[in-house]
Amino acid sequence: SVAGARAQKTHGRIPVYKDASRPVEERVGDLLSRMTLEEKVMQLNQYTLGRNDNANNMADPVNDIPAETGSLIYYGSSPELRNRVQRKAVEESRLGIPILFGHDVIHGFRTTYPISLAQACSWNPALVEKAAGVAAQEARMSGVDWTFSPMIDVARDPRWGRVAEGYGEDPYANAVFGAATVKGYQGDDLSDDRHVAACLKHFAGYGASEAGRDYVYTEISRQTLWDTYLPPYEAGIKAGAATVMSSFNDISGTPGSANRYLMTEVLKERWGHDGFVVSDWGAIQQLRSQGVAADKKEAAEKAFAAGLEMDMMNRCYDAHLAELVREGRVSQAQLDDAVRRVLRVKFRLGLFEKPYTPESTEKERFLLPESLRIAEELAAESMVLLKNENDVLPLKGLRRIAVVGPIAKSRYHLLGSWSSKGDAEDVVSVFAGLEAEYGDKAELLYAQGCNFDGEDASGFGEAVAAASAADIVVLCLGEKRDWSGENASRSSIALPEIQERLARELAKTGKPIVLVLSSGRPLELCRLEPLSAAIVQMWQPGLRGGGPLAGILAGRINPSGRLAMTFPYSTGQIPIYYNHRQSARTHQGKYQDIPSTPLYGFGHGLSYTTFEYGDLKPSAVTFRRGDKVSVEIAVTNTGKMDGAETVHWFVSDPVCTISRPVRELKHFEKQPIRCGETHLFRFEIDPERDLSFTDGDGRRFLEPGDYYVIVKDRKVKLTLTE
Ligand code: BGC
Repeated sequence: SVAGARAQKTHGRIPVYKDASRPVEERVGDLLSRMTLEEKVMQLNQYTLGRNDNANNMADPVNDIPAETGSLIYYGSSPELRNRVQRKAVEESRLGIPILFGHDVIHGFRTTYPISLAQACSWNPALVEKAAGVAAQEARMSGVDWTFSPMIDVARDPRWGRVAEGYGEDPYANAVFGAATVKGYQGDDLSDDRHVAACLKHFAGYGASEAGRDYVYTEISRQTLWDTYLPPYEAGIKAGAATVMSSFNDISGTPGSANRYLMTEVLKERWGHDGFVVSDWGAIQQLRSQGVAADKKEAAEKAFAAGLEMDMMNRCYDAHLAELVREGRVSQAQLDDAVRRVLRVKFRLGLFEKPYTPESTEKERFLLPESLRIAEELAAESMVLLKNENDVLPLKGLRRIAVVGPIAKSRYHLLGSWSSKGDAEDVVSVFAGLEAEYGDKAELLYAQGCNFDGEDASGFGEAVAAASAADIVVLCLGEKRDWSGENASRSSIALPEIQERLARELAKTGKPIVLVLSSGRPLELCRLEPLSAAIVQMWQPGLRGGGPLAGILAGRINPSGRLAMTFPYSTGQIPIYYNHRQSARTHQGKYQDIPSTPLYGFGHGLSYTTFEYGDLKPSAVTFRRGDKVSVEIAVTNTGKMDGAETVHWFVSDPVCTISRPVRELKHFEKQPIRCGETHLFRFEIDPERDLSFTDGDGRRFLEPGDYYVIVKDRKVKLTLTE
């Protein structure tokens, strides 16, 4: 205890590492000097509470955890359980080093927020930071010190189920939202028991998994690695992320978890990261399956030599690292460096001073009014109005609304993947949201119509009857919660045939269809789009989707979400993304059988009001290296409703040594603009940062010549002279 520590200090016996008044580095050094080889190795292992390979006493998972364990994956949410395990480490191990408790807190803890892909569509990093702050507080108060989040893997293949977990297809968006999330998790002080350590994952290139299949190989050139996949990581490290997770994929032959270039040269030597890298789940032993190690020992040696400090789950370090040191295959200095990194994070978290989690009731830490308010706001801002023919939305003067489809009353599926602590009981469904919105102002006629998949069309009759009796149909289709997330790839991003059939049957009634979609990925909508008068992409909104969705339909909320990931016309277009390189024949490269443009592009999203854009006004049209240039644009709300507009600032470099993307997002800003009012948006260009390109080793080049700054259909030329 702190009091005990003070007493010891008075007697001059307190070891430096236990003295909170000493600098972290001194404490780390002191502790390290007291550790045996075996104790050091144990710090580099992460066990799983209750799920170990060699679990010998499942009656009490605590028995299975050695007191010297470095870290635990902790699926619980009870301070009491954490404290029992921690007591073992603190009281029964020789040096009393506290355990670091990690957990996948991905889009909220108990208060479940929209999935990360949806959060990105809000284009509101400040709000995303707040949500991460709530998640951190709920988690830390429940005994979690460290979250395996954010996932900042740029992803361009929506067949890959993990697109739900990241911030879409753009490197800059992943950088900004990743950094905001890190700040929300970590705050200014990791030790204040309201924050958790963040973990940037999966380093690197996991989002490029071939054909959208999980756990497979990626083929990424060094130039693309630097241009596309690494910028979010660099931003996350700058934001102070305490840790990084290595990826499952191999990058053109070198697995992420044995990749010295990434984990040592780039992350530590170049970016100066002083935290540690944890392997992904079992990734070290998987070096065998990937064909770069013959056995666990060789896998341990390769991963460790490459700069991977902590072994998640598979006990390769536990079993082999000490032996590798004794054999001289791993140096003592490298072992010490690795242990130092892990200890540093523990000291920063204040675990030595406060190893235990204060007991609190669930009521004291979960679902607080402010936490739910943020959930409501973030859900509202992340929903995207994709189509609104003849202004069918907002709904006006209706007496009867048919609410149809497998999503309509679903609560469980709105939680999204990785919401292990989210409870379906707390979710507001679309139907409940509409009930609350309309009260007795309109009658809601509900029919499920069909299940998520399968052949059963026996509910169609009831659905058609409801539609026929109503003025309008709110058709709620989508994906089950486990159709996206890890190991949840789909070969087609279309909804199952039964859902499309239901839509066709309803369309025959002639009643306008408002399509509401809940999914963890962009969907193939080429057949549903023509049947729908309006489409709202609700994503998987977490606990508070129903209210905002109803608010949008009723016009209480003006939709402001914009797509952070392209909606292809159909699966066959994948991969399709806005920032592709320039092609040899701009107007060709077309498909014979389908359009070659996406159905809804990156940045698409409608509003109930109209925003008129002025001209782009640069502070200078020519500039020199080192100059700062800024460009402004005035946006006026010329419609009849207050709203929020997101201005996406792109740049392009049409002639360069290398062929560059047609445009690249470099800045964005979302602003509420009342009707009749104008906001002046501004982009401060730092040429070295915003106009340069990288070579295959991350070196930046800024070439003289013409550049364009692009906003919507406006373009302005800037020339770098010399
Ligand atoms: C996933 C990671 C996750 C880890 C721990 C892995 O299978 O790829 O994203 O953090 O498990 O649950």
